[in-house]
Amino acid sequence: MTVNLLDFDLDGLAAFCEQLGEKRFRAVQLFRWVHQRGARDFSAMTDLARSLREKLPAHAHITGLPVLSRQDSADGTIKWLFDVGDGNAVETVFIPEDDRGTLCISSQAGCAVGCRFCSTGHQGFSRNLTTGEIVAQLWQAEFFLRQHLGSTERVISNVVMMGMGEPLQNYSALVPALRVMLDDHGYGLSRRRVTVSTSGVAPMMDRLAQDCPVALAVSLHAPNDPLRDSLVPLNRKYPLAELLDACLRYLPAAPRDFITFEYCMLDGVNDQPEHARELLKLLRSHGERGVPCKINLIPFNPFPDSGLTCSPRPVVQQFARLLSDGGLITTVRKTRGDDIDAACGQLAGDVLDRTRAASRMAQRRVTTVHPIRFVPAAGEKQT
Ligand code: SAH
Ligand code: SF4
Repeated sequence: MTVNLLDFDLDGLAAFCEQLGEKRFRAVQLFRWVHQRGARDFSAMTDLARSLREKLPAHAHITGLPVLSRQDSADGTIKWLFDVGDGNAVETVFIPEDDRGTLCISSQAGCAVGCRFCSTGHQGFSRNLTTGEIVAQLWQAEFFLRQHLGSTERVISNVVMMGMGEPLQNYSALVPALRVMLDDHGYGLSRRRVTVSTSGVAPMMDRLAQDCPVALAVSLHAPNDPLRDSLVPLNRKYPLAELLDACLRYLPAAPRDFITFEYCMLDGVNDQPEHARELLKLLRSHGERGVPCKINLIPFNPFPDSGLTCSPRPVVQQFARLLSDGGLITTVRKTRGDDIDAACGQLAGDVLDRTRAASRMAQRRVTTVHPIRFVPAAGEKQT
């Protein structure tokens, strides 16, 4: 069996090359061909020794994911549906903005956390993606976009782990994938431009701080434990006090001096003025001096049978104002790609028959949709 080179970070590739009797600098060359030039074919790698070029095909290949569909929005947003085998599919979304291009990547097929407002959660868990499947989303999107836009320069400047799945429940595949993104011989993205979003797997936040600190977004959604228990079941395992402690421990290693808290606005559930006041109190009084943070309010994207609706716009604005007046930097996330259902909690029918988990849901006569979410908060700049 040959290995897929997309599965390796640079150290992994160096170890693989060593097995073939090749020095580390050969791994660097190979890595650059794959991730900086999008090469799929060893014979094109003209600066590799001919003996290595000839040896490689017997041991390795460079293979992305089959594209089930690609949809282009009028606003430039592009959504891919990738086949990950066994009837499972994952989504990846590119969101262009004036000063950056963000790719939203999936980490799992389905998700085991089961948040009430998330259609991936409603689907259940199918399996973890491999490092190669996580990296392939970036590799394919980047080199497609360069060709599509006629660019010789890098197109994707930011990555957010905000597609399907809970990245910190797929830790061992996630970390090498992050290293490929950060590596100067890979995509060369700065740590501030790579964001892991988590529903709050507190012990894994500690490990991430040690192994590969990148920007962190924590999906909060509620200002107290009973309400968060009901929205994000993982809260029963890692309640708010523990989660916020983990945030405080993460910050010294983090590339930014704040945590981004995501808060999905659910009509009549978590969007009342008393929730805003409770949230202010929680975040400003936790620990000795509160938790340095920014809040990103996400309008809920409804999906069938969720039993939830999005807070009306004036309610979102009032909530944002209460937080801002209380001293928290608050933004409201823009929705992009509406015309291709690339906003959170959309993408319906075509996935239904392709995802094993989704078909289980269909058997139960539940209509399932996949969410895709975007990060870039309106007005939030990353450097
Ligand atoms: N599992 C991780 C990352 C993927 S979810 C996490 O939960 O953070 C990325 C973001 O999209 C999370 O903040 C999540 O709460 C939000 N989200 C999920 N379903 C949504 C929906 N239907 N509408 C709006 N945001 C949603
Ligand atoms: Fe999983 Fe995140 Fe969806 Fe919760 S919001 S079910 S953690 S993908």
